Amino acid sequence: MMIIPYGKQEILQSDLDLVNEVLKSDFLTQGPMVPRFETAVANKCNVKYATAVNSATSALHIACLALGVSEGDIVWTTPITFVASANCARYCGATIDFVDIDPLTYNISVSRLEEKLIEAEKNGILPKVVVVVHLAGQPCEMEKIHELSKKYGFKIIEDASHAIGGKYKGQPIGNCKYSNITVFSFHPVKIITTGEGGMAVTNDPEFKARMDRLRSHGITRSVEEMTQAPDGPWYYQQLELGYNYRMTDIQAALGVSQLDRLEKYVERRHQIAKRYDELLSDKPVTVPWQHPDSYSGMHLYIIRLKLGEMQLGHRQVFEQFRSAGILVNLHYIPVYRHPYYQKMGFNPKDFPESEKYYSEAISIPMYPGLSESEIQEVVLRLITPIGHQTLF
Ligand SMILES: *Cc1c(COP(=O)(O)O)cnc(C)c1O
Repeated sequence: MMIIPYGKQEILQSDLDLVNEVLKSDFLTQGPMVPRFETAVANKCNVKYATAVNSATSALHIACLALGVSEGDIVWTTPITFVASANCARYCGATIDFVDIDPLTYNISVSRLEEKLIEAEKNGILPKVVVVVHLAGQPCEMEKIHELSKKYGFKIIEDASHAIGGKYKGQPIGNCKYSNITVFSFHPVKIITTGEGGMAVTNDPEFKARMDRLRSHGITRSVEEMTQAPDGPWYYQQLELGYNYRMTDIQAALGVSQLDRLEKYVERRHQIAKRYDELLSDKPVTVPWQHPDSYSGMHLYIIRLKLGEMQLGHRQVFEQFRSAGILVNLHYIPVYRHPYYQKMGFNPKDFPESEKYYSEAISIPMYPGLSESEIQEVVLRLITPIGHQTLF
């Protein structure tokens, strides 16, 4: 049986060559390749500073810390995201809350956000940080969210794990024009990969310095940051409690090489999306709506089943795909539904759009190596599942 995953990396000889170069060099980690990757990403994103780390999860954590999130603070995010977008606040001891999604983009709803801010201001419980997530690569409405951040005094982290290579109002995602810090993931299912890896980008030199320290134990080697003159040339200082979140030079080499193909990858993803749009236009599914202000990174292609027009249920359609070797996925289980978060007392009824989304959404395969025949196979399996049972 042909297996079609929902996402898949592409590794070319040029990737192997650059990784090999590092393996044969003096530095497997803390060498020149990590700063080279940071500079390359910063240049692509039109942003001043970049801090490479071992995952987007780590990047989200040090981003929260750099913005001063700590116990007693409140952080808001969208429920339709990977748990890491919420966990980062919990690592810092902050309280998390969720804002329901927009029914068109499935991103955080700006109108719900505003309503919730008005209410929170009355009750004196405004968030310190809002983590917005560019779901599937489609940018959130950053300009409006930025305006709200000025009015209500919160900071913004963009979780752009899906969105490197995307654009908002013609400018690259990651330029941080409307946010304090943007985070990328380089997990193999994402747009470019380093195996495991992530990056936090910012235009603020203080956030950059703090994130650099936090990724390596809270240690500084910069004399200006030290509390006293160095004891000698060996000297460094631990200024605060940090972590080992470093990326290796081996990973960075893969990243540098993959980044060369970023535009090509995102273009190919858009081509595939266009084919799906065409092939699915007469099927009882809602295809992804694209905001006119945005050019998506197109990490995912999420369809929503029009269940009223179908014989099978959401779960059955999902199972039909899987049993045909098409490894569809569901991005995501609303975060508040996980037992760890449930215990905090969230009520699914407070998030009607997220609940509806969760009952209808399926991510079908989307990656640059997907062929035309595979695209057709995916669509065929939606219409005629194995066993010739009619779906619609
Ligand atoms: C993948 C992902 C993460 C976590 O990325 P890692 O690099 O695996 O830590 C965080 N947020 C979102 C939205 C993601 O898709």
